[in-house]
Amino acid sequence: MGKASRDKRDIYYRKAKEEGWRARSAFKLLQIDEEFNIFEGIKHVVDLCAAPGSWSQVLSRKLYLPAKLLPDSRDGDLPLIVAIDLQPMAPIEGVIQVQGDITNARTAEMVIRHFDGCKADLVVCDGAPDVTGLHDMDEFVQSQLILAGLTIVTHILKEGGKFISKIFRGKDTSLLYCQLKLFFSVVTFAKPKSSRNSSIEAFAVCENYSPPEGFDPKDLHRLLEKVGSPWGGDDQDCSSGWLEGPNKVYIPFLACGDLSGYDSDRSYPLPKVADGTYQSLDPVQPPIAPPYKRALEMKKASSQGIREIERPSLDS
Ligand code: SAM
Repeated sequence: MGKASRDKRDIYYRKAKEEGWRARSAFKLLQIDEEFNIFEGIKHVVDLCAAPGSWSQVLSRKLYLPAKLLPDSRDGDLPLIVAIDLQPMAPIEGVIQVQGDITNARTAEMVIRHFDGCKADLVVCDGAPDVTGLHDMDEFVQSQLILAGLTIVTHILKEGGKFISKIFRGKDTSLLYCQLKLFFSVVTFAKPKSSRNSSIEAFAVCENYSPPEGFDPKDLHRLLEKVGSPWGGDDQDCSSGWLEGPNKVYIPFLACGDLSGYDSDRSYPLPKVADGTYQSLDPVQPPIAPPYKRALEMKKASSQGIREIERPSLDS
């Protein structure tokens, strides 16, 4: 798809470039905030699966930059934003970057170390695997990212804190809702206007972190498994029998973002400049080491008849 054609068919892609966001995903977080006021009173945040960085930009613009501009701002008092991804990202003011896999315990430990004993008020996770189109498979891999996010949450989120996570709606959505309800008193599944209706993506907005009394993060997996078992979890709404019959759990599901605003499934006419042409903007920040880079190198090498290209060294 050409740039102008994508600009026409994807209004949020075009708006992201106009407003200086690295990705259209920025609007999803902004629209979740419009509905849930997620940034109020927030100082310490973790952005999981952050590259190319539009959510981190939102965090920087909403939390770090306004605090830095205050006349009596001091370095030690500024909001702490830690962003993690498998991919490196170009720097963002006020955002500390950790490159790593969030399902790996060592990455979680690195994040925890940045908090140096203090706790996070908010953890956000927009993680997505490379989608295969096989919904069950995609939903499963996505659930592994949510689980990794929840593991980090149980180590660093303060009581009363919030967790926002991308989910893929599917047959296990009720199970996921009940698992999240074990830890948060309010869980809502939200669909921002900038997320296409055709996509199975939605966001779990989990408020008021309140783990079960005596909970030890080491017991997370055991506890989560209990929710899906016949003897059920301890939560009233999600106790046994929550999947069907009169006790079936109804998941609060909310559309968010200005409902009279842009529709992500519609095409919009392109604004023309004085000479009647349309000027497409370049992306704000192309990925600095995209996973497809090596594939492109290999394609180029094969078209030039080169059989073997040098493999990148592991520590580069
Ligand atoms: N929120 C980002 C933004 O606004 O720019 C977009 C995130 S993008 C949809 C999903 C990201 O998840 C990708 O950058 C990918 O590298 C990352 N990701 C997927 N699996 C991961 C993992 N196991 N650990 C860390 N990051 C992961």
